[in-house]
Formats: sequence, structure tokens, C-alpha cells
Amino acid sequence: MGPTKGDLQLLRGHNRGLIVDLLRHRGPMSRTKLSHLSGLAPSGLTRMVRDLLAEGLIQEQGKCCSHGGRRAVLLGFNPSYASTVGIKVERTRIRAARVDLAGKILDRVDVPLPDAPSPDGVFERIGETVEDLRRGRVLGVGVGISGLVDSSRGIDLYSPILAWRHVEVTGPLSRLLGIPAWVENDVNALTLAERLYGAGRPFRHFVCLTVGEGIGAGVVLQGELYHGAFGGAGELGHITMDPQGPLCRCGARGCLEVYASDGYLETQAHRLDFTDIACMAKAARNGCELARTTFAEMGRSLGQGAKNVVNLLNPEALVLGGERMEDADLFLPEFEHEVRRNAFPEEARDLTILSAELGADGFLIGAAALATESFFQLPLEAA
Ligand SMILES: [Zn+2]
Repeated sequence: MGPTKGDLQLLRGHNRGLIVDLLRHRGPMSRTKLSHLSGLAPSGLTRMVRDLLAEGLIQEQGKCCSHGGRRAVLLGFNPSYASTVGIKVERTRIRAARVDLAGKILDRVDVPLPDAPSPDGVFERIGETVEDLRRGRVLGVGVGISGLVDSSRGIDLYSPILAWRHVEVTGPLSRLLGIPAWVENDVNALTLAERLYGAGRPFRHFVCLTVGEGIGAGVVLQGELYHGAFGGAGELGHITMDPQGPLCRCGARGCLEVYASDGYLETQAHRLDFTDIACMAKAARNGCELARTTFAEMGRSLGQGAKNVVNLLNPEALVLGGERMEDADLFLPEFEHEVRRNAFPEEARDLTILSAELGADGFLIGAAALATESFFQLPLEAA
């Protein structure tokens, strides 16, 4: 029995997706190179390229130097074919951005939220925000929320900052918006952005650490985000540093967050008679030994926590992000020293440690990328 109509359609979708993927990830190339890399015969490729050009998913981009003869026309992915919207739900506001298909922010808007907002209230705000941002073809919306998120089922299992438990997000939201919606833990969204467009690009295995009000981690293994059984992977802030230590907001004692988050720095700042962390940082840069030691201690604790992750997962790189990175000069040297000290195995000393590249925009770009990446999953159906 030969292939059915359905089989052929699937194969076609697969091949279309393959061509678009090659152009998205490897940049512009000639038809000859595309045929070579995709393994598709030139005749089949020509038809498919013609269709993709007509749809606007790919475009011709000038000519390339060729080995003698005619110069070949280059084909490239068209990031303006459509856009997606990325959203970060915070305690007091929604941040949103419309992002092109190459991760570039086109428009953005911040919308305030009332105290302790209900899920429906937040969805309604998101709906208005997406309408405000909507221009041309919008493929979908991705939402990043802090806390425990089961992204495969689209459920926010627990968000302390919103006091939400077991809230269905993607179902109600996609019904409200009329386009597909995704939800993800905010640090995972940031990690995805760094993997696709930022510091994580060269690595198949890396961990993105965020330092600030909390301490989080996004884990990329074999090039994919690792979620754990129900989205709880990467809760680095709550690994135990000292079971007899001070109480953490999670109810346990001596969590990493107690020693290396903004809460720690604030407490120490007040103890040393500084108004806030910024004042203490300034004093440290002006040579105040006590202030310097405080940041160094914080860096050392963070390094100890990160070292556990390095020993567990053997990543190629640690990518550091989060709002406290503005004081990286004050804690990063101690952090690095601690991570590399007595590294086991010794090869782990080759670990790359680098700063995230996208800053706070990474949260929005990553959330938007949830929709983008899903759209380009194989097979890529015709529009
Ligand atoms: Zn804790």
C-alpha cells in the first residue's frame, strides 16, 4: 500500500518546517546549500520555496559570492512574517511586549494591577493589553509567572506573589483572546530567551541563575528546558545551606535565599546603618570594608549553592541574570572563586560563567518565544 493523502501532507509539513528551521537558525543561504543541508531534491525544494516565498515566511535577500558563474540568490527567514506577545505578570503590574519572530521587541506596554488580583481580573487586563499591542498577524501569547507552573497543562500550580493556587491559565486565556496562549515559570521564560537569542546560544547544557528578590534557576539540558515532573525544577533558592539557619519565607530553615537574595542584603544594610542596598553598594565601591565583605559573603553563599547544581548537572555554562546583577562587580569574583574551588571533577573548572545578555527584557522575549517556538514545531502546516 502506498502512502495515504494524510501521510503526504504530514511529510510536506515536515519538509516545509525543515526549510524554515534551517533558515531561522543558520541564517540566509542559497538554494543549493539549502538542498544540500535539508536533503531535499532540488525539484521538490523549488516548489516548496516558491510557496514559502508567496506566503511571506521566507524572503529573497540579495546575492552571495559564488564559485564562478552566476551569483546565487540568498533565501532568508522573514522575522516580520508575524509577531507574538510576551507577558510577565508581576505583583503590581503586567509587563507586555510584541516581539517579532527573531526575538526583537517591537512595542511594549506596562499596565498596573490592583492588590491581590483575581485570575479573571488579570486575564481581562491581559486581554486589553494584547488588544492594545495587536498589529498585523499575531500568532499567540506567552505568559511568564513566578512560582510553580505546569506549562504542559497550562496551569499555575502555586504563585506566592499572586496568592494563586491551581489556576488554569492557557484555557481561559486562549478562549478570551481567540489565539493560542502558553504559560511558563518566569525564570524558565528568561532562560528560553537566553538560549535562543542571548548568552546561552552556544551551549547545549547550561543553567541560568537569577539573583534578586528571590533566587531562581532555569535548566537547559540537551538544548531543551528541563521542567521536572510538574514544573518544579530549578527552585535553587530553596536548597538547604544550613538546617539550623534562619527561617525562610518557604517555611524551611537556612535556604540559599536567606543568604544570597535581596532580603539578606537589605537586612545587612540596615544592620550596618545604610538606608538600602544601593547605599551599601556605593559604600563598598568607595572602599568600606564591612560593605564589601557583605557582598562578598553573599557571592560566596550563591557560589556554594551554584556548585551543588554544577555537581549535579555538569552544565557547560552558568548564565547569571536578575536585577541584582547591577552589583555583579561586588559579588561575582567571590561567586566564581567558590564555584571553581575544589571543583569535582577538575574539568568542571572549565565551566563558563557569564552574564545574561537580554536583561529584564529577556522575561518578555522568552514568554513571546513560547508562542513562536510552538508555531514552528514540525510539521509546519500551510498558512
Ligand atoms: Zn526557602
